[in-house]
Amino acid sequence: MTHITTNSQPATAPVADTHTALRQHTQLPGLERPALMQVLAGLGVPQRQLKMRAQQLWHWIYHRGAQSFEEMSNISRALRAQLAEHCSIVRPQVVQALKSVDGTRKWLLRLPADEHGQQHEVEMVFIPEEDRGTLCISSQVGCTLNCRFCHTGTQGWVRNLSAGEIIAQVLLAKDDLGDWPALLEKHPNPPLAGRYITNIVFMGMGEPLYNSENVFAAVRILADGEGLAISRRRITVSTAGVVPEIPRLGEETGAMLAISLHATTDEVRNELVPLNRKYPIAELLDACRAYPGLSNAKRITFEYVMLKGVNDADADARRLVKMLRDIPAKVNLIPFNPWPGSAYACSDWERIERFAEIVNDGGLAAPVRTPRGRDILAACGQLKSESQRLRAKQRKTPARQGSTA
Ligand code: SAH
Repeated sequence: MTHITTNSQPATAPVADTHTALRQHTQLPGLERPALMQVLAGLGVPQRQLKMRAQQLWHWIYHRGAQSFEEMSNISRALRAQLAEHCSIVRPQVVQALKSVDGTRKWLLRLPADEHGQQHEVEMVFIPEEDRGTLCISSQVGCTLNCRFCHTGTQGWVRNLSAGEIIAQVLLAKDDLGDWPALLEKHPNPPLAGRYITNIVFMGMGEPLYNSENVFAAVRILADGEGLAISRRRITVSTAGVVPEIPRLGEETGAMLAISLHATTDEVRNELVPLNRKYPIAELLDACRAYPGLSNAKRITFEYVMLKGVNDADADARRLVKMLRDIPAKVNLIPFNPWPGSAYACSDWERIERFAEIVNDGGLAAPVRTPRGRDILAACGQLKSESQRLRAKQRKTPARQGSTA
């Protein structure tokens, strides 16, 4: 049985108004230290105090998880009032929060209104395992790539997320999980790894390397040792293969790289991941080979979605081994998560096992990613579509008209 907690705040007018008002404020999460200092200077904080005040804000926002300025007890009352008047540390609005029987959590988040007054939604997933917890976050609303098997691609392109909107997802997940140091210290049964969220993957909605500036800033903030302190080794940016941005990702963030490969010939990959027509497999693999800091301990993850009769033959497995021979790599075999109207089916389990065996025998680690949270529509983009479908239905039902956004 699916256990679903719908922690939904209905999309009522007051919430929207709060968000509209906050649009006038400077959202502090997402700003790096120099930008924070600039904001403080704008509020009249003397030059010699800027560094120290920025550090205090940093600590409150990223280490303590403060959601208001009032609680920042080591900052003067006068400055706190000014901060409250001009700045915000607001979280996205939770439209839906679901919990799977297997512990996987999924949130549908509504972002504060943008300059056109539009409130967009993105998804986020938390996957707990024995010794780690992985938070999967979004980098864009919608996606431009149109990978044939991906549900987000059917939803059209909307916009990039700001660094603040990316970081706010993590802050919200930490609030919901109780994943702040001060809370964990008092926890009678703390998680094995000392915290709930140990790993971050940019594998939610969007193509992170089409939003590089904001994603890179977000990675630097996540990895900062005086704040969220998530090791760069545990932050993975997944790309469909935006080749020119790959070296920069390594140089500017030191994050781990994942490549959505999904095919072993250009012919099949052109079909599945149309971006391949621009950056074919050979170029993509060259960029991988040159990725900074690779070693046996720091490998590139190659994601490979198992599509029945499309990319799952023995010959594909053998080609895969050959292609990755000179790259420190691991392969993540992902059972295809079907969605209504998708043109593909997931490979049979025996096929996936055989494929994994060939890859393993070829000397590559090839864990099969166990499907998680299927009961809560964990496939990329599904929850958002479901929410849109429901709202469209509600709009068509006269009795419900005006009751929801
Ligand atoms: N745009 C980036 C990150 C988002 S997709 C990228 O392409 O890597 C994250 C991963 O989920 C990608 O490997 C993507 O190919 C995979 N994916 C998307 N839809 C899926 C589905 N229905 N079933 C299984 N994996 C899927």
